[in-house]
Amino acid sequence: MTLPPETVPAAGQWDAAVAAVRALGGDAEIQLVCHVSPDGDALGSMLGFGLGLRRLGYTRVRATFPGKFTVPTPYAELPGVDLLVPEADAYPAPALVLVFDVAGESRLGGLAARVAAAPVSVVLDHHASNTGFGTIRLVDPRAAATSVLAEQFVARLGVPLDAEIAECFYVALATDTGSFKFDMTTVAVHELAARLIATGLRPGDISRRIFDSRPFGAMKLTGEVLGRAVLEPAAAGGRGLVWTYATLADLARHDQPPYVLDTLIDPVRSVAEADVSVLVRQVAEREWAVSLRSKGAVDVSRLAVSQGGGGHRLAAGFTGFGEPRDVVDIVRRLLDDFLN
Ligand code: AMP
Ligand code: MN
Ligand code: MN
Repeated sequence: MTLPPETVPAAGQWDAAVAAVRALGGDAEIQLVCHVSPDGDALGSMLGFGLGLRRLGYTRVRATFPGKFTVPTPYAELPGVDLLVPEADAYPAPALVLVFDVAGESRLGGLAARVAAAPVSVVLDHHASNTGFGTIRLVDPRAAATSVLAEQFVARLGVPLDAEIAECFYVALATDTGSFKFDMTTVAVHELAARLIATGLRPGDISRRIFDSRPFGAMKLTGEVLGRAVLEPAAAGGRGLVWTYATLADLARHDQPPYVLDTLIDPVRSVAEADVSVLVRQVAEREWAVSLRSKGAVDVSRLAVSQGGGGHRLAAGFTGFGEPRDVVDIVRRLLDDFLN
């Protein structure tokens, strides 16, 4: 997709977003929302922005996400976590809602109606598949992370970066770029990282906490799930498919929470013999969170969107039903359709 720079976000949207915040009194209720099963970008962009609102003197700011109120351990000590409340404690009728890293309303679960009913909803996102919801839209599919947009927004509101806000945005940027490895890792991304680090961050400490620390049980679980991976060299028009799955029973056996599987697609997608990789994670009886990755031959976001999901060209996901084999059958068939 090539868009002229001035169209993303569309003209007037930044001014409208800044005006929407400035129109509020210091005691207005502001609700921040990110996607279900939040990752580093969802939490980091939301909490960093929430801290920015605090610096401006807004006293009633809450942050939440739909579903079970579990913050993955790597993010449990992010600055601003005290802004987080369970979905049930979100403001019922906030004056302003801001939505972070949410590709579509299906990722908002029970909070979708709250967002739709808000007098003003500002959507900050970078998914190519973003469905177009929200009244003010700061959506740039070329941004490496939602935190790129959140940082611009905070700057436009006149809040100087400090180490707490910067840590949130840095964690978001580092996670969504795969530690500054993915295609979206531009000069501008490194410039932003430099400005964030310049506030006094210690990238080594942050990386150890976010990427290089996990319970022994999670490591053992990873070993089992990788051990059952299947390579299909003829699939995806001969470009190769590799897939594996993890069940709720696997998690229970190792006494691990679901988030420990969030990055398990990474070793799977490293398989050289396959362009496309799939991780099928059980969410409930016959319901699975499907992660798709491509090395470049396939636009997996198209595939995910056709199944009601979304994402980016080389990293996407959807909800699948049945058994893992049923889900992989669908992926295999869609790959054939898309490549022919
Ligand atoms: P994941 O495989 O969970 O790491 O997700 C990869 C990308 O796809 C992320 O940008 C997600 O936001 C997006 N994604 C994953 N699952 C869904 C879904 N069910 N609906 C929309 N987008 C999704
Ligand atoms: Mn995300
Ligand atoms: Mn993101």
